[in-house]
Amino acid sequence: MSSPAPTPSLTDRLLLGATRLTAKTWPLAARIPPRPPEIDDNESLWASQTPDYRPGAPLRETITADLAIIGGGFTGVSTAYHFSRRYPGKRVVLLEAKSLANGASGRNGGLMLNWLAHMPDHSPEMICRVYQITSAGIRTIREIIERHQLPVSTRSDGTLTVYTDAQRAEAAHAEAEYHQGLGIPTRYLDSAALKRQLDLQGVSGGVLDPDSGQINGAQLVRGLRPVLIEQGVAIYEGTPVLRIREGATITLTTPGGEVRAKAIVIATNGYTGALGYFRDAIFPLHSHIFATAPLTAEQRATLGWHQHAGFSDDLDRIAYSSLTNEGHIVFGGGSNQAYDYCFGNRTAYPGAPASTANLMRKIEATMHDYLPASASLPVAYRWTGTLGFTLNRNPLIGVRGEQKNVYYAIGFCGHGVTLANVAGQILTDVYSRDDEHWRGLPIYQTDYVPLPPEPFRWLGYQMYTRLTGRSPRL
Ligand SMILES: Cc1cc2nc3c(=O)[nH]c(=O)nc-3n(C[C@H](O)[C@H](O)[C@H](O)COP(=O)(O)OP(=O)(O)OC[C@H]3O[C@@H](n4cnc5c(N)ncnc54)[C@H](O)[C@@H]3O)c2cc1C
Repeated sequence: MSSPAPTPSLTDRLLLGATRLTAKTWPLAARIPPRPPEIDDNESLWASQTPDYRPGAPLRETITADLAIIGGGFTGVSTAYHFSRRYPGKRVVLLEAKSLANGASGRNGGLMLNWLAHMPDHSPEMICRVYQITSAGIRTIREIIERHQLPVSTRSDGTLTVYTDAQRAEAAHAEAEYHQGLGIPTRYLDSAALKRQLDLQGVSGGVLDPDSGQINGAQLVRGLRPVLIEQGVAIYEGTPVLRIREGATITLTTPGGEVRAKAIVIATNGYTGALGYFRDAIFPLHSHIFATAPLTAEQRATLGWHQHAGFSDDLDRIAYSSLTNEGHIVFGGGSNQAYDYCFGNRTAYPGAPASTANLMRKIEATMHDYLPASASLPVAYRWTGTLGFTLNRNPLIGVRGEQKNVYYAIGFCGHGVTLANVAGQILTDVYSRDDEHWRGLPIYQTDYVPLPPEPFRWLGYQMYTRLTGRSPRL
């Protein structure tokens, strides 16, 4: 799913010029104080498959820590996991506003992918490096599941990127052959070969990445809770961080107590702006998604989905889908209606799921276009998740602050299942002052193009998406 940025049109250039101009109003807008995070419940298929999970107790006292992690998704939990294994003597605290995997990590499409969403450097060295890092990340996730015998439903039989245009399919064919020459195992399938494996209408070919797969993120994150506790991590759920006061000792304020920590990790992705951090770097984008009831073997045969864990298409408003071991089709994206930005950086979609009924119908129609036999399948789950979006669609990972003790990994956009799990390894290395492996990657310690504050942010998003049918990208 890596794609170079398209050549900007006049509309792109005008609107992006306006973005840069209006971003200059930040010195005024930055005076708006942080506010408590707005976080709704996770109603996803994935969460429904952790029926025995109950959130742990909130923080009710003042405590100290060597490292305090804010956010209990892939990023926070992978950091707690890798850090506490490397530093078993240090006091690690994880603070989660609601329950582990309540955010995007427990609400996504389940595709565990290689690559970055955006590759600014297409040199053979960078292509190999990024593929090696992400495929090692997928292997690490599988090793962790194996090592701790976690009850996580996962598939390892590859995913497809499919092409809706013959010319783009040919270009993808050439690229897959080039990648093979570099030792990357992706393979091009022409439309006849693709049809035998996954019979999608309106596609001219696809690229199979056999190293990728699918995972129930809620089961992974929640399954790791007893492992983390065993490794000495103190986990407080129902504990939103309301305020961060930086210094040699950082103070985190929560409703029931304070944490005084030598270092912190911001692992709050789309919710980060509410903490007063990175408000000009990422914006919360709501992504609507659904899952069918489980398919019978007969329904699956009629549908033509014979092989592979999932697919995504080559369009800007990416349509993506996976088929779970339990037989549910999970489907999202494919149109402007599948994504929404709400004025004022709201991080819970107002009135969902009732308010999303019309939007969901449009997403369901996209699935029916690709898989006509799916039109008769009942939908069993509909939910919305909050993405943390950057303008170039790559995350920001690094360390900042006067004391260099504020670590962060945020802005994974729609491509974080693998990368947010790698983030825990990166941050543990950065803490250890051993970051050589990550230096020069376009996600580590990079600059970003600033987003404008409100009202320009909302107006810009609405104009851009309506005029171009795409989401903003720089
Ligand atoms: C609908 C949807 C589909 C997606 N599909 C895919 C896909 O198929 N493949 C893919 O690679 N990626 C996908 N993604 C993206 C991927 O899920 C995310 O990039 C990834 O889960 C980010 O993990 P995270 O831990 O950084 O953030 P999150 O999982 O959002 O975790 C952040 C956590 O921080 C907590 N929090 C927030 N504020 C506070 C606070 N003040 N105090 C304490 N806790 C706080 C939240 O409750 C939340 O649990 C999808 C995302 C969505 C929403």
